[in-house]
Amino acid sequence: MTPRQLEGRLSVLPQIQPEDLTELAAQGFRSIVSNRPDNEAPDQPSSAAFQSAAEALGLHYAHLPVVGSAISDQDIGRFGTLLDTLPGPILAFCRTGTRSTTLWALSQARFRPVAQLLETAAGAGYDLSGQALRMAEIASTDLADEPTFDVVIIGGGSGGLAVAASLLRRKSGLRICLIEPRQEHYYQPGWTMVGAGVFNAEQTMRPMATLVPTCIDWRHAPAEAIDAPNHRVHLAGAGAVRYRALVVATGLELDWEAIPGLSEALGRNGVTSNYRFDLAPYTWDLVQGLRGGTALFTQPPMPIKCAGAPQKAMYLSADHWRRAGVLGDVDIAFHSAGPALFGVADYVPALMEYVERYGIALNFGSTLVAVDGAAKVATFASQDTAGVRTESSRAYDMLHVAPPQRAPRLIADSGLANAAGWLDVDPGTLRHAAYADIFGVGDVVGTTNAKTAAAARKHAPVVAENVLSTLAGTPLAAMYDGYGSCPLTVERGKIVLAEFGYGGKLMPTFPTWLIDGRRPSRLAWHLKSEALPNLYWNAMLKGREWLCAPGRVPPGAV
Ligand code: FAD
Repeated sequence: MTPRQLEGRLSVLPQIQPEDLTELAAQGFRSIVSNRPDNEAPDQPSSAAFQSAAEALGLHYAHLPVVGSAISDQDIGRFGTLLDTLPGPILAFCRTGTRSTTLWALSQARFRPVAQLLETAAGAGYDLSGQALRMAEIASTDLADEPTFDVVIIGGGSGGLAVAASLLRRKSGLRICLIEPRQEHYYQPGWTMVGAGVFNAEQTMRPMATLVPTCIDWRHAPAEAIDAPNHRVHLAGAGAVRYRALVVATGLELDWEAIPGLSEALGRNGVTSNYRFDLAPYTWDLVQGLRGGTALFTQPPMPIKCAGAPQKAMYLSADHWRRAGVLGDVDIAFHSAGPALFGVADYVPALMEYVERYGIALNFGSTLVAVDGAAKVATFASQDTAGVRTESSRAYDMLHVAPPQRAPRLIADSGLANAAGWLDVDPGTLRHAAYADIFGVGDVVGTTNAKTAAAARKHAPVVAENVLSTLAGTPLAAMYDGYGSCPLTVERGKIVLAEFGYGGKLMPTFPTWLIDGRRPSRLAWHLKSEALPNLYWNAMLKGREWLCAPGRVPPGAV
């Protein structure tokens, strides 16, 4: 059985049988879509049979039945949404595969040339020439209604809102469009504190509407494609907008589904994560409830946002158990896919003192690969020096998971990614390598800085200034130095304040007599628990650029 690939995430097949799903799962497919209505033929298995076979194998399943002669605009939209939201790779099927291929081509007609779609379909064995007119119609709709903005920003998180504010500070009349589907904005660095009972969750969330300046045209829908050659962004179910300059600020994606059993176990069975607003309070519940047993903390392969967050959760939990007098009864283990406790060696000695104080067992090169929530067992994979992979399972009473993380698919699908899928920008100017009117900010960029809000705070003025230079047709002048920061909460009341730039170069903000980032500091704790949230809400998101003036591009460098 050889699926016919239409694009990276989607392949199609003629009618399959429920028992074929085992082989498709083994081939790596994670989602199945049936486009065939039930009871078309007497020998046809039902959708319910596919659903239960898929679920037994841990595959996602969707039924979007269509009749070839009556595919509606709604069907096309729904197929596009499935393509966007189901975990890939996806296998779609109908009786011959034609309906699935047609749905795909029609759902993509706004984003890709019709000739290219017809050619791809033909390569997979499907002649869609009868659909060419409809594809052309779809491709030409919306165009007349598309507004053009000076700047379009995709994503209203830390980076997107900071850039918007920095742009407006510099040029108040700018026509800006923000594309952001969420109604809430989160201060994610606060979630570590929520997981330790220092903040409550509500302190880390504000309604987006209170943060987006009213002069900005805010579109409440996700961007589903960036048409860089034509300076357009397509929104899911909400038309398209054109830009003179584009800022991509989508952050990264948390891939909870990459670990079988994890999604189902989260929030119960002792499984938690400070990487989610709704789960950070559960971390604190678990920490307070644990009087003995095994507590596991996991870290996935890099890059992740706030690389210190997995161990921050661990130290603060251990500190609570120490204060509660039960530390000796809790076996704590850190399982990290990486080879070292922290990527910048200067901070490791101070962290090791805490590892020893709390009696933490370190397991490097050990990646969480499965969770059995009901049995409370976690499975880890590791490789020996000869590359031989082994798996081992451990029972736990509490499991704190930092999920695998990846670049949003939108970036690669829009042809804007580097080899690893991240937005391909210059590490200094943050301008896209191929498109002079596209810039990136925050976690989505493919630079080697630490993915942190602290980095986004430094990105924002650089991008704002360089966007305005682009609009004015003048050379780019602002330059980012790679700064990122990770306040490692080693105990309640003390922090090892890691601040570093490209190549792991230490970049302390304060003189060492005030805060020596390589030693635990009480003052740094006050910085994290009081000053930084204030700086975030009242300075960074308002365009007040304290301590983050951009560097200068050397003359003749761009
Ligand atoms: P985000 O803030 O995640 O925002 C991305 C936005 O883009 C979201 O609003 C999303 O809805 C939107 N979006 C996504 N896709 C689309 C689309 N297709 N169309 C439209 N909108 C879209 N950083 C620190 O500096 N210090 C810390 O101590 C710290 N601790 C952390 C602890 C934890 C537990 C976590 C989870 C993070 C921590 N961080 C910390 C990291 C910090 O929160 C992120 O680096 C920062 O939020 C990145 O900003 P961003 O704008 O790139 O992404």
